[in-house]
Amino acid sequence: MALSPTIKLNNGVEIPIIGLGTWQSKPEEVIIAVEYAIKEAGYRHIDCAWAYGNEKEVGEGIRRSGVPRSEIFVTSKLWATRLNDVEGALDESLANLGLDYLDLYLIHWPIHLNPKGNHPNFPTLPNGHRDVVRDWPLRDTWAQLEAVLAKGKVRAIGVSNASERILEEEILPYAKVVPAVDQIELHLYNPQHKFIRYLKSKGIVPQAYSPLGSTGASLLQDEVAVAIAEKHGVAPAAVLLGWQVAKGIVTLPKSVTPERIKANIEGALAAAKKLTAEDIEKLDGVAATGKEVRLIQPPWGVDLGFDNWPVKYQTL
Ligand code: NDP
Repeated sequence: MALSPTIKLNNGVEIPIIGLGTWQSKPEEVIIAVEYAIKEAGYRHIDCAWAYGNEKEVGEGIRRSGVPRSEIFVTSKLWATRLNDVEGALDESLANLGLDYLDLYLIHWPIHLNPKGNHPNFPTLPNGHRDVVRDWPLRDTWAQLEAVLAKGKVRAIGVSNASERILEEEILPYAKVVPAVDQIELHLYNPQHKFIRYLKSKGIVPQAYSPLGSTGASLLQDEVAVAIAEKHGVAPAAVLLGWQVAKGIVTLPKSVTPERIKANIEGALAAAKKLTAEDIEKLDGVAATGKEVRLIQPPWGVDLGFDNWPVKYQTL
């Protein structure tokens, strides 16, 4: 059983380049998926979040795998209603997971929802829009993350869904610690080449969410990916994931299906070696043939009054 290779974050911590996604994994399914991924398929990286509502079961799956905690990289994310209470929210995630530290803790969305609003996760205003704390200084949340890092409760800190503008204006000018990663929507139809170059120039590792096209894995039908897969005798999923691995992007395919969990990691590692420079160039160019799309579009932009929402790129 091959383990996922690792890459180094900007603080020297090693992150396995393939992680198991857990969004929309039902609690009873995720226990089995996580145990199987670690014990039988060689995953050593699990991506979870408080907002997914399944941290307890992810923790149970980790314990059932029997693999020592120190060999597994666990990420969780700070939900938007908790941007003013990082340590409290982190302690809740740690208690849910049954762990005493995280390997990586991310700001899930760079937007603060009213913690005293009408719902614990998605507070809304009487007009139906999300109840956003518009003047919240994101740098305060970042300083709180730096504090839990200094306490040793997490080994690395980062952001998710953060644009170049957010990083340039709201985080980097105030940061003592540069974010280790930015977890963003990245796939064949939303490759964000320019933004990836920007992140790499800052020493921030890009992490790809929805690498297969999210629910239903629609990208597996793409004709360019299918043709390259046939040429190399691998699955289309292997091409989509292996393309990211070959480019030094951490990829987070989600599955609760054991055969797919195993096929995704094995296929990705094999494809990353087989893909030629020409294949990679072709895959890089697919989105620009009129296929560019963002699949995950929570209505934050509408709530914030952006007139260009929905959008193709990171914009918050
Ligand atoms: P993915 O692109 O990983 O696709 C998941 C879907 O693909 C599921 O329906 C899964 O089905 C199916 N699938 C997986 N492997 C295969 C395969 N080999 N053949 C056919 N179908 C397959 O989508 P996600 O949106 O879940 O993204 C991955 C992870 O990224 C999330 O789970 C989460 O951890 C993270 N994420 C983070 C976000 C953020 O805001 N930071 C936002 C979105 C995701 P099944 O499970 O039934 O096998």
